[in-house]
Amino acid sequence: MRRLRKCGLHARDRCMSKKKKIVLAVVLAVLVCLIAAVVFVIIKYPNKLRRMASTVINSFNSGNKLKLKSVEQDGLESVDVEKFMEDERVSADQSLMLINTQYMLSEDFTADVAEYGESGVYMNLCIQDAYRELAAAVSTEFDTKLYVRSAYRSAQEQQEQVEENSEVATAVGASEHQAGLALDVYVPYFAGMGFLDSDAGVWVNKNCQDYGFIIRYPAYGEKSTGVTFEPWHIRYVGLPHAKIIAEQKITLEKYVEGLAIGKIYTYGDYYIERCVDKVLLPGEFESAVISPDNTGGYIVTFK
Ligand SMILES: [Zn+2]
Repeated sequence: MRRLRKCGLHARDRCMSKKKKIVLAVVLAVLVCLIAAVVFVIIKYPNKLRRMASTVINSFNSGNKLKLKSVEQDGLESVDVEKFMEDERVSADQSLMLINTQYMLSEDFTADVAEYGESGVYMNLCIQDAYRELAAAVSTEFDTKLYVRSAYRSAQEQQEQVEENSEVATAVGASEHQAGLALDVYVPYFAGMGFLDSDAGVWVNKNCQDYGFIIRYPAYGEKSTGVTFEPWHIRYVGLPHAKIIAEQKITLEKYVEGLAIGKIYTYGDYYIERCVDKVLLPGEFESAVISPDNTGGYIVTFK
């Protein structure tokens, strides 16, 4: 009896373990299929995955505020903006103009534009050297070339865009292209959102701040800019501003708003100041660039 019962139990155990083995085999087969599918997708679409991942990660970084150290200002001398501009160490450009639907370009605004080499492409004078360096870096790093699809657009050309595509085009006066400060770039076969499917496009998005450019409409900035992610639209703001904006993951709106008027901030070898009619001098400086901010004031960058 005892033996029989034992044998009976044995048989049931064997039966159970057979079932378990089948279930295990099925689970393993499903897992292997899943892993194979994931590996296939990673190999076949590496850039698309990278793009999706970075868009998701970036969208969690919104709402950042500018954080910069300010300097002690007691006893510092101040001069009128006009007088400051006469100083031979000071040059003026339009690099830090905030242009959007809230701060629109005035009707009498004139962009400092000139032809870029003999390309037939017109862009603001202050961005040309920086763009030349960025394009050269892309050619050195990758077996491709960076091209400009759209640079400076006159008010009339912007108006034509609005008439052609009223839902997407920016209103006349609210586009940075009208100041010649923005470039829509691409590499052959990779334009628009597809720019990020190229290694060069990913690199430009990660490194353009070293050349003074920012991704003006980042995925994390949609609330602040009111514009959806545009990985192809690079905007010149100069150094060190581009680096600060990229490092702190903020937008140009947050950057300009974050600079309190009449305060001097420091970043590396630079002093940064936003002012209205008087410039506070931070002691000794080698050179300075002053740009209107298009909100009624100026931003001065001392080196
Ligand atoms: Zn653009």
